[in-house]
Parts: sequence; C-alpha cells; structure tokens
Amino acid sequence: MYLYNSLTHKKELFVPNHPDIVKMYTCGPTVYHYAHIGNLRSYIMEDVLEKSLRYLGYNVKRVMNITDVGHLASDADTGEDKMLKGAKREHKSVMEIAKFYTDAFFTDCAKLNIKTPDVVEPATNCIDEYIHMVTTLLDKGYAYQAGGNIYFDTSKLEKYYVFNDHNEEDLAVGVREGVEEDTNKRNKNDFVLWFTKSKFEDQALKWDSPWGVGYPGWHIECSCISMKHLGEDMDIHCGGIDNAFPHHTNEIAQSEAYLGHKWCNYWFHVHHLNTESGKMSKSKGEFLTVSLLEEKGYDPIVYRLFCLQSHYRRNLVFSWENLDNAAVTYEKLIAKIAALDPNGGEIETEALSKLKERFVTALNGDLNTSLAVTALYDVLKAKTNDATKLAAFADFDQVLGLNLLAAAQKVRDAQPKEESDPEIDAMLLARAEAKKAKNWAEADRIRDELKARGIEIIDTPQGAKWKRI
Ligand code: AMP
Ligand code: ZN
Repeated sequence: MYLYNSLTHKKELFVPNHPDIVKMYTCGPTVYHYAHIGNLRSYIMEDVLEKSLRYLGYNVKRVMNITDVGHLASDADTGEDKMLKGAKREHKSVMEIAKFYTDAFFTDCAKLNIKTPDVVEPATNCIDEYIHMVTTLLDKGYAYQAGGNIYFDTSKLEKYYVFNDHNEEDLAVGVREGVEEDTNKRNKNDFVLWFTKSKFEDQALKWDSPWGVGYPGWHIECSCISMKHLGEDMDIHCGGIDNAFPHHTNEIAQSEAYLGHKWCNYWFHVHHLNTESGKMSKSKGEFLTVSLLEEKGYDPIVYRLFCLQSHYRRNLVFSWENLDNAAVTYEKLIAKIAALDPNGGEIETEALSKLKERFVTALNGDLNTSLAVTALYDVLKAKTNDATKLAAFADFDQVLGLNLLAAAQKVRDAQPKEESDPEIDAMLLARAEAKKAKNWAEADRIRDELKARGIEIIDTPQGAKWKRI
C-alpha cells in the first residue's frame, strides 16, 4: 500500500516495523462537547485506513486516547481547560462531562460504522506515565522548570519543525495574534509538559507530582498512552491536519527526546471538513452533529458515503445540498443492489478476484476511497452473475462500511410481495384501464374499494402491484 507520509511529504510504500503487527495510534476526541461531523470525518477516514490494512492482510493494533484533561482552549498552553469550560457550561463535574461525551462519541461512531479501536485510554488514567516521562526529560536536559510549570526546551533539538512544509513564523504559537506570550518560556515554541501554575487556578482535576500539585499538558498524553500500549515504536500516527502543529510536532519532540531514537514512521493527516462559510465550529453557526443529521432525516451512513467520495487529503465542503446528492447516490446504489437476485447462481471466483483487484488498487493508491466507491459501479456493470456481484459488495463493505447488503435487504423486504388473487388482479386491470381512459373517478373508486378490503395498491414502473395491509 502506498500512503502519503506527512513527515516526508511523499507517497511511500507502507512497510510496517514488525512483520506480524501494524501499530496504529489515533488522537482521540476532547470530550467536552459532542463531536461535530468535521471531527468525525477524521475518524471515518482513519477507520477506513484501519479496515483497509486489515483487508490487505495485516494484523492491526490500534490505540486511541480520550482527552479528558489538559487540552486548553488555546493550543498555545494558555486559556482554560476545555473540559472545565464544558463542566461550567452544563453545571456538572468534569468527570460527568467526560463520561457523557465519551459515550456520545462512541454512539456517533457506531452510527457511522466506525469500529472502536482495540484500546481506548482516557488521559486521566495515565498520570504515573506522564510523571515518568517528564522526569526523564528533565534528567536528560530536554526540559526545565519555570514559574511553577515544566516546559520542553525546543532549542535542545536539531530539528523541531518536522512537518516542515509550514512557514516557521506562522507556526510560532507563542507569537500568534491574540495569544498572550508566556514569559516563562525560554523559546517561543517551548511547550508545557506539566502545569502547576496556571491563570485558571480552579482546574478541577489535579494530581501530586515531584513538581507540585498539577496536571499534564495535552501533548504528553498521546506520547505516553501510545508507548504504554504500543511500546517504543509505532507505524502510523493519525489525526486531523490541525493536529500536525503544534500537537504532533510536540509529540515527536518529546517522544524522540525521551526514547533517543525515531518513534513513528508514517503520519496520516486527514484534511478538514469546512462549511461554505469556512471553518467548522462547535460554537458558531449550526453545530453539525450526527444527531442533527438524523433529526433532518438523513441516515448517518449517507454522511459516511459523502466522506468516502472525496480524498482524505483534500478539504471537503459540507452543505446540505452536497449531502442530498450523496443521499440520492446511496439510494440509487442500494436499489440496484436490491434488484440483484440473492439466489443468483454460484459465485464465479475468477470474476470475483478481478473485481477485487480494482478495489485493492484503489486502496493501495494512498487510500483512494472515491475510486473504491467507483469500484462498486464496476461490480454492477460486470459480466458475471448476481451471486458474484453480491459477494463482491459484501467483500468491499468490510472496508467501506456502507451497510450495502443489509440496506438492500431492507429495500427487498419493503417491496410488495408478488401475490396473486384473480379477483383483485381483475380489479387492478380495470383500474389500469380506467386510468388509461382518464376516468380518474373510477380509478379512485377501485383503489378505495380495495383499501376497504385491506388491500394497498403500489404503483411501480412495472405496473400496479398490491399487498395486504
Ligand atoms: P478534538 O476533539 O478537538 O481533539 O478533535 C478531534 C479530531 O478531529 C482531531 O483529530 C482533529 O484534528 C479533528 N478535526 C477537528 N476539526 C476538524 C474538521 N473540521 N475536519 C476534520 N477533522 C477535524
Ligand atoms: Zn494526540
């Protein structure tokens, strides 16, 4: 499989470090509010990556954190903890908020067919690990104490901006507009590993540490949680593109300083879902959640299809019109699959492997999901029997997760059964003739009479059918 690696800015052949396992890490949600569908775009594409790797025969271990402490309102180590903000907003405790929105996140994931990672670890579970890493960084001279906090010293690194397609000045978090400079920092990009002093003294969750009572910085969580479960190396680290800097840059800085060797080989970044007016937000404009999609009558799987139709390295613009188009595409696709005969012969293995080849090529080309979706139409057009086509859909859906066969079966179940009753059939014929003669009153009378007898007429392109109500 070829994957674009943000670290090298190239598509590279994916080769795992260990032949028997692919170690994958995903930055989890900050559970202070519902996930918006932009966040979920990242999780959908990461899910497709994991499922593709499994489909291609790899054994995958995937770990995800839940950020329930330390993610401040600004990425630049200033502002209030987002969890505390959420708790204040809802007059609840931080842990109540964390539990509620963690559950809500996984409920949304289930609706979108996003598999739960093998390990899910809340950040508040790993305080000892953070203290150990910070202690080691201090011992090795990569960290310093100032104004009560422990900072990572970025000047100790040969190279800090590892995803170096950015302009350094733009990235300098300490000097970003609207962000107050932290005078304790020796270098503008130094970041907090452990807080004991913050302007927001009412931080709810605090722990003892060798440097005083405090709480971890956000970045250290992912380094420690991944090492706890995946060891000292990793194959693929995932996240939304906004995480590349400063979050992932800082993760790499502290992890490699701690380990003394390279940490993660491939960095997979999903680009953003935007609205027509720009950045997706939880506070401005319409707060787009999975529940909102459902309230408006959309099957969440339609949103998954919408995401799959475009490449993960392109920004994607959400609009209701675009989602409507995906809904129509999905409905038509499912109708075509429903029209296939489940008893349509024996599976033709050669034809099936040819169809699979195209699908695999799409995945192997930097996870080209839109091409993988197109492969579904190749199946419909293929010169093979229905059993083979249905087998291909079942096979591809292990990765795509579009409920293809289950949705098609639902359509079949809702279709009128071909019942036959000479009297009713004769009445349907009479109604058809009345309609042909534009005798609408007679046609309606026949419909009403049948209704009174508990028979519903269903008009289809192949003529009228009926079923008992
Ligand atoms: P958070 O809950 O803020 O920690 O974000 C969870 C994930 O969603 C992270 O991987 C972010 O990079 C990602 N993310 C945030 N906004 C968007 C967006 N508009 N489109 C895609 N991914 C996003
Ligand atoms: Zn992370």
